[in-house]
Amino acid sequence: MRRWNGWGDDQFNLELPAQGQAFLEQRVGSANPLQDATLEEVCLKVPATRLPADAKVDDLIDTRAEVRVRHARGQSLVDWLAIRSGEIGTFPDGVAFPDSNSDVRALLRYAKEHDLHLIPYGGGTSVAGHINPIDQGKPVLTISLAKMNRLLDLDRESQLATFGAGTPGPLVEAQLRAHGYTLGHFPQSFELSTIGGWVASRSSGQQSLRYGRIEQLFAGGRVETLQGTLDLPTLPASSAGPDIREMILGSEGRLGLITEVKARVSRLADQEAFYVVFFPGWEQAKTACRKLVQNRISLSMLRLSNAIETETQLALAGHPQLIGTLEKFLSFRGVREGKCMMTFGVTGGKAQCRSNLAQARKVCSAHGGVYTGTKLGGKWAEKRFTMPYFREALWQMGYAVDTLETATDWDNVDNLLNRIESNLREGLSKDGERTHVFTHLSHFYGQGCSIYTTYVFRVADTYPQTVARWQHLKNTTSELIVRNRGTISHQHGVGKDHAPFLPVEKGELGMRAIRALTESFDPDARLNPQTLLD
Ligand SMILES: Cc1cc2nc3c(=O)[nH]c(=O)nc-3n(C[C@H](O)[C@H](O)[C@H](O)COP(=O)(O)OP(=O)(O)OC[C@H]3O[C@@H](n4cnc5c(N)ncnc54)[C@H](O)[C@@H]3O)c2cc1C
Repeated sequence: MRRWNGWGDDQFNLELPAQGQAFLEQRVGSANPLQDATLEEVCLKVPATRLPADAKVDDLIDTRAEVRVRHARGQSLVDWLAIRSGEIGTFPDGVAFPDSNSDVRALLRYAKEHDLHLIPYGGGTSVAGHINPIDQGKPVLTISLAKMNRLLDLDRESQLATFGAGTPGPLVEAQLRAHGYTLGHFPQSFELSTIGGWVASRSSGQQSLRYGRIEQLFAGGRVETLQGTLDLPTLPASSAGPDIREMILGSEGRLGLITEVKARVSRLADQEAFYVVFFPGWEQAKTACRKLVQNRISLSMLRLSNAIETETQLALAGHPQLIGTLEKFLSFRGVREGKCMMTFGVTGGKAQCRSNLAQARKVCSAHGGVYTGTKLGGKWAEKRFTMPYFREALWQMGYAVDTLETATDWDNVDNLLNRIESNLREGLSKDGERTHVFTHLSHFYGQGCSIYTTYVFRVADTYPQTVARWQHLKNTTSELIVRNRGTISHQHGVGKDHAPFLPVEKGELGMRAIRALTESFDPDARLNPQTLLD
């Protein structure tokens, strides 16, 4: 069953290897975990529902306390702190589970008639406060798309697949693979996030180099709004004025409920493998990545860890003997302290893969890269969706983990990355606390790349103090990002947590245009208030 107060399946746990624990203790000190509230305790805090009875929709809505608790928060660190402490604050008054477009329309009518607020809900994996209800004095109905999870149509000739918007990653791929196709969209939250959520929050998958971001994969579909149904036709391309499809991308549930997604799919590739190369230093590694992308060498995935992330990953990996052998081999080849690990994927036909691999290796070795084959790359692929389970293991030891991500042009990557890292690293020093901070670049473009930073710190003695630590790190770093030519989010979206920082990026006129757009679909501001727009 899904864990009610953390990530993933409650039957699956990842242990942190002993040397990983020792490494963290050395970096931030030993920690004491905070006491978790129990599900029973939290359920007792859920108030009576304010939703009015209505025979037309009653069968669709669940008002039981546990269901409301399970849909009250997403997966950001501050969401975790709220859930784990039991101080959730506002709960939805009920959760609706529509099974069809007409069910969704009935719920929208119900919301209008009874003056409700609505929160569209996909997999609830938001890390920016998107789906958290806020108390504005009106009943809040969360609408989960979980039952709309089927492949509805596959047009093989045009390579277009139509899915119910609530289809989660594993079901998207399983239903397509049964026919020999893939969508190729693999965010790290793949296990739980949904195709509708990907569109609504402009998600990016780990293999976006080959398959594209969700913007490239979303061809059209259906959106049920408070003003009527919006059908987005699938067109290969169009110069017919502004693109309505683009308005739905990143709309974060403010314009309506996406009920069907028509996505561009690909035939399954003949082969795929992931490789690891180590570079002696950051500059060589970063230049190699830039060259690979700007020379249009066809890779399906590319990720570059900085020296601290490389060291951290090797320490947390376990297998000290294997890592020891690797270190000796690398040292012999001149790759020692300060080394940076690059992981890349090659996907396609046999001959194509051979040629792409050869070209990639040539660029890497021209920049001092030492190729180590598929062993570590295979490990990355094996663990790519289970890494979030480490959060649970760290939490049990008294460590809080969060991530910050942005994107910027190549000329600004080092400046922004260094500022983000040092702000996080020094952010808790006034409390005498250290923060362990490390970064990778993970989505690459000719113009620039994304920067993805992870930070680990000890929880404080109480929940409110821990929230204050997080708030300080998050706010100061977010401000720094937007003031230094970074986007407030490359892939996690805006939600409520990033909304205060959006105006710097969009400008006053831009914000007015976004506001006008939401008002034209939802003049009474019923849908997901305070998400996207502060
Ligand atoms: C461990 C972890 C790893 C992550 N890794 C990645 C990653 O690699 N790449 C990435 O892009 N993101 C990542 N995320 C963030 C998150 O998974 C994405 O934002 C994802 O797209 C959210 O999808 P969801 O279905 O869970 O949507 P939710 O969290 O349920 O909702 C997100 C927003 O979309 C709206 N929404 C959802 N469904 C619909 C719908 N059908 N119609 C209208 N609005 C809707 C909601 O109202 C909300 O505003 C990660 C999150 C976690 C916790």
